[in-house]
Amino acid sequence: MWDFETDPEYQEKLDWASAFVREKVEPLDFLFPHLQFTPQTDELRRIIDPLKDEVREQGLWATHLGPELGGQGYGQLKLALLNEILGRSQWASHVFGTQAPDTGNAEIIAHYGTDEQKAKYLQPLLDGTCFSSYSMTEPHAGADPTQFKCRAEKDGDEWVINGYKYFSSNAPTASFLIVMCVTNPDVSAYNGMSMFLVPSDTPGITLERNVGLWGEPLNQGSHSLIRYEDVRVPEESLLGGEGQAFVIAQTRLGGGRIHHAMRTIATAQKAIDMMCERALSRETQGSLLADKQFVQGYIADSYAQLIQFRLFVLYTAWEIDKYNDYKRVRKDIAVAKVVMPTVLHDIAWRAMQVHGALGTTNEMPLFGMIHGAGVMGLADGPTEVHKMTIARQVLRNYRPAEGMWPTEWIPGKIEAAKEQYGHLIELEVGNL
Ligand SMILES: Cc1cc2nc3c(=O)[nH]c(=O)nc-3n(C[C@H](O)[C@H](O)[C@H](O)COP(=O)(O)OP(=O)(O)OC[C@H]3O[C@@H](n4cnc5c(N)ncnc54)[C@H](O)[C@@H]3O)c2cc1C
Repeated sequence: MWDFETDPEYQEKLDWASAFVREKVEPLDFLFPHLQFTPQTDELRRIIDPLKDEVREQGLWATHLGPELGGQGYGQLKLALLNEILGRSQWASHVFGTQAPDTGNAEIIAHYGTDEQKAKYLQPLLDGTCFSSYSMTEPHAGADPTQFKCRAEKDGDEWVINGYKYFSSNAPTASFLIVMCVTNPDVSAYNGMSMFLVPSDTPGITLERNVGLWGEPLNQGSHSLIRYEDVRVPEESLLGGEGQAFVIAQTRLGGGRIHHAMRTIATAQKAIDMMCERALSRETQGSLLADKQFVQGYIADSYAQLIQFRLFVLYTAWEIDKYNDYKRVRKDIAVAKVVMPTVLHDIAWRAMQVHGALGTTNEMPLFGMIHGAGVMGLADGPTEVHKMTIARQVLRNYRPAEGMWPTEWIPGKIEAAKEQYGHLIELEVGNL
């Protein structure tokens, strides 16, 4: 059964969310830009807490986990429909309790955590009373986790962590970190690494630098270089089994990647909205920009790119709900991840061009979107590595040709067709 409609009851909620984000949340982007990942002051909370309450009243708070995982969500497809609204605003996913990296972190605790771990770490995340960070990348190795060195060694009933982690998003405000460590260097990295739940105030954790993205002030960013030095945690801090880090990481990153893709639909749609408004507002050489064929081409190409991307992301979300198994949907999540930066980049670039000089300035959000496209090509793994995943998965459905010639070699096909039907037809006809 294929259906491209949203049920009317949920559509009402989406309509509410759309108006709420535009009217009440987007203004926060201008009053408190880039402050979502900083400790929230009383002043901020006076504004944000009542907004969160409104979201709760609508039953739209923290909907990334379904009831089977302890959340109150409606599944990934409905989350996609919501996220394609929330992605318009930097603050919206915070106000709705679905911000990265907490959603992915909550997901792995829900999947792999013990009851005690869920009570201590998942519940506060779902309640919105704390933030978390995912500490996997190291300064010398990101795309290739088999090179990680950060080590956890058993000492009695404790684990002792030593090493560096880099680009741990949100670490400055996180109450706890999920740290990926080598626990057995003598086996393959795929079996020799484990995940740990580590409270941020554990002695031995130092945030050496808080790296900012382009446009943010130096050392005031939210992506930390962290030194773990003799950080002792009890054995109950192990998330999942010993040696399970790779399996857990796939679950963590699968969710994170598709959620970024969902939000990117909204950002790209915003760029199209801006492009169309400008095209209808600006006249040059005797006609509106909207009447110039080049500009019409920008609009048409942008619409075509976004609608393909959107349908694919919704389809992938539907697959996740259907199979409830990220591994099975891994190829399509990788496709969404690979396509996302190009779609956002191309559309934002065209919108910037149509705005002329104004588009390039810090008075418009367009260059920020283009930078965001670059970030999307790296966060949760570089595009190149995801393309390799896609190709490997696609190739699994193929076998080498049996003989010297390709299966679709036309002379071979003609011979086979003659053998099949030759006794029924005049072979002299045509080129047979
Ligand atoms: C905004 C942002 C947030 C992030 N948040 C987190 C976080 O919360 N936690 C965390 O642990 N990490 C985080 N990261 C880090 C991210 O996961 C890494 O940047 C990513 O995995 C790539 O690692 P790297 O930066 O070390 O690049 P490298 O591994 O050095 O790769 C650099 C480039 O080399 C090329 N390359 C690499 N491998 C291959 C290959 N196999 N084939 C062909 N080309 C290749 C690609 O062009 C790639 O971009 C974040 C990154 C960004 C940008």
